[in-house]
Amino acid sequence: MALLVVGSVALDSVATPFDKVEDALGGSATYISLASSYFANPVYLVGTVGEDFPKKYIDILAKHEIDLEGLQIVPGKTFRWSGKYHYDLNVRDTLLTELNVFEKFDPVIPDKFRKAQFVCLGNIDPVLQIKVLDQMVDPQFVVCDTMNYWIEGRRNELIKLLKRVSVLIINDSEARLLASEPNLVKAAKMIREMGPKILIIKKGEHGALLFMENTVFSAPAYPMEMIFDPTGAGDTFAGGFIGYLHKTNDLNSENMKCAVIYGSTMASFCVEQFSTGGLEQLSYPRIKERFREFLKLSRFDEKD
Ligand code: AMP
Repeated sequence: MALLVVGSVALDSVATPFDKVEDALGGSATYISLASSYFANPVYLVGTVGEDFPKKYIDILAKHEIDLEGLQIVPGKTFRWSGKYHYDLNVRDTLLTELNVFEKFDPVIPDKFRKAQFVCLGNIDPVLQIKVLDQMVDPQFVVCDTMNYWIEGRRNELIKLLKRVSVLIINDSEARLLASEPNLVKAAKMIREMGPKILIIKKGEHGALLFMENTVFSAPAYPMEMIFDPTGAGDTFAGGFIGYLHKTNDLNSENMKCAVIYGSTMASFCVEQFSTGGLEQLSYPRIKERFREFLKLSRFDEKD
């Protein structure tokens, strides 16, 4: 068994009210693969960077035993993204999106990767996400992320893709936009009718909702005293979620709830430092310890 991750590998410049970084390691595939690497092995990464991409960042990915055979290093500049967070860290302005080598990205899946049973499609053009699935032999479990930009600009392609996806992970505003429905429960029903049997709606610091079968599971977010940089929290959530499911190879509904909590656990580490710093030095016991704190957060006994 293997996990394939496809998405952006980026140089991010991020400013928060507390600090800022320039040309830091970022990108959806970066966060997903780093988070999932604590659970899954092998993790295959497919993406593209330019020749300016620092070797020290390749080393970070390699140190986590992420297989980089599918990372194309091509002439030109790496994808760059820049964002500025407000005092309320839930509010962010995108200052710059420079596609650079990403503009011509053609995700070619190496032969060795094509039999991966678990696939995580990071937030990229749905046309490319479909192209990835077309190259896979028989994936058992496909998790997909997307964003407002594609919901508005590539709606038809996205709807085609959703028929082939097991789990869609989006945030609340994206769910409302995709379903054209303000009520999240109604929106979830409509989105699941488009294809994915399982839907996860992230609500930032208010946790996440998991819709599957006939149930809704509400996962809390970890109450953090210090959030340094929310960048990549959503991707990290997806990485922890699919990584844990890959590790346990158990797709039943109770285990799916645990996977959501592991996703939230990894996201809580991500926001504690700038860029990927919070994901670089973790250990499985530390992850498990925080997972247990999540249990305490929402466990209560029935009383008369
Ligand atoms: P998130 O905070 O979960 O929205 O993820 C932020 C990460 O996504 C950053 O590291 C960016 O480099 C990357 N990113 C931002 N915009 C795009 C885009 N249009 N396509 C692919 N990746 C992006």
